[in-house]
Order: sequence, then C-alpha cells, then structure tokens
Amino acid sequence: MARYVGSSCRLCRQENLKLFLKGDRCYGDKCSFERRPYAPGQHGQRRGRKPSDYRVQLREKQKVKKIYGILEKQFRGYYFRSERKKGITGTNLLVLLESRLDNIVFRMGFSNSRNQARQMVRHNHFLVNNKKVNIPSYLVRPGDVIDVKEKSRKIPQLLEGMETVVRRGIPDWIEVEKEKFRGTLKSLPNREDITMPIQEQLIVELYSK
Ligand code: SF4
Repeated sequence: MARYVGSSCRLCRQENLKLFLKGDRCYGDKCSFERRPYAPGQHGQRRGRKPSDYRVQLREKQKVKKIYGILEKQFRGYYFRSERKKGITGTNLLVLLESRLDNIVFRMGFSNSRNQARQMVRHNHFLVNNKKVNIPSYLVRPGDVIDVKEKSRKIPQLLEGMETVVRRGIPDWIEVEKEKFRGTLKSLPNREDITMPIQEQLIVELYSK
C-alpha cells in the first residue's frame, strides 16, 4: 500500500502544529517545530491572506490524516463508514481511527509512534486474542487483548516505546500489563478522551459539500 515517505517534521511545520510523529524526539529540544515554528520552504515565514473556509476545512482533514498516517482513499472510506453509523459522524470518525490496531499498539506504549507501530504490526510482532494479526488497519474491539509475541519481547523499538510512554501516558480506556507484554482495550474512547486539537466538524463540512 502507498504511504508517505517524506519528512515527518515537515508535516508538523505544514500544519503549524506539533503532530508528535517521531516519538520521544517530539518531547525534546531536537523537535524541528520548536526550532522553526513556521511553514517549510522559501516562503514559509511569509504572512498569508486569511484562508478561505474551504482551505481551513481541507487543512483540518490533512492534519488528521497525518496524525494517523492515513492516505486519502482509506480516510474517505473511514468517513463514509462513520456517516453510516449511529451518532455524530465526526466523533464516529475519530473513534474509528483510534480503534486501528497500529494506533492501539502506539497508545499501549508498545511503540514510539504510530508509524513505528504500523511497521511492527506488519512484521508480525503482535497477537490479537491469541491470533496472529499483521494488518495495521485491523479494528480492535472492546475486550480485545493484544499480546506482544514471545520472541518479539526484546526488540529495541518495543523496549524503547515501553520506556518512553511514561511521557505521554496510557489513556484510561486502555489497560496495560507491562510485565506480561499485554494490553486490553477496555472500551472505545469518548470524544473528550481524544485530546489532540482536532475540529472534526470541519472535515464533515468538507465532505458534505
Ligand atoms: Fe513534529 Fe517535532 Fe515530532 Fe518532528 S519532532 S514530528 S516537528 S513534533
């Protein structure tokens, strides 16, 4: 599947927001956004005109895609799926994105970033309910148990993730038994549990045009 292979820090600078795409580095003084908090490129520091509504909506969608590392076609699929579900479309969309296996692995602290989690899932390092799952977009359901495979418990990315998760914390809707290398999705998150500054209604407005 196609994926973005450019600089992660460039994405933060484009969105004018720390997207926390590089794990521990994002919390230190090596963060590029801290050092150069303006858009990349020759005209990055130039003040622009007030953006149109369309541009604001588009940027919000791009931001969310970047946070979760998803490309347009798949993102659109999530949107239409959210629309068909009961409840508020924007909230449904965020909850769907949060339920992806790569995101849950990241939230459990078994990796330093979603990008790294995606790679680790593809490389078969995890079991879901004792079954091998290597699809990053697999949707985890409440009660599902994720285990790090026995032979994968010493890989450096995993150990580093488990050490540095302390900085960002493990959300309440997830339970992790560190010594067993196991995590459980207790429940799906509520809207207020998703703390990144996202205005999902702008994405709904964009797709509703
Ligand atoms: Fe973004 Fe800073 Fe992390 Fe780079 S280090 S991905 S700029 S938050």
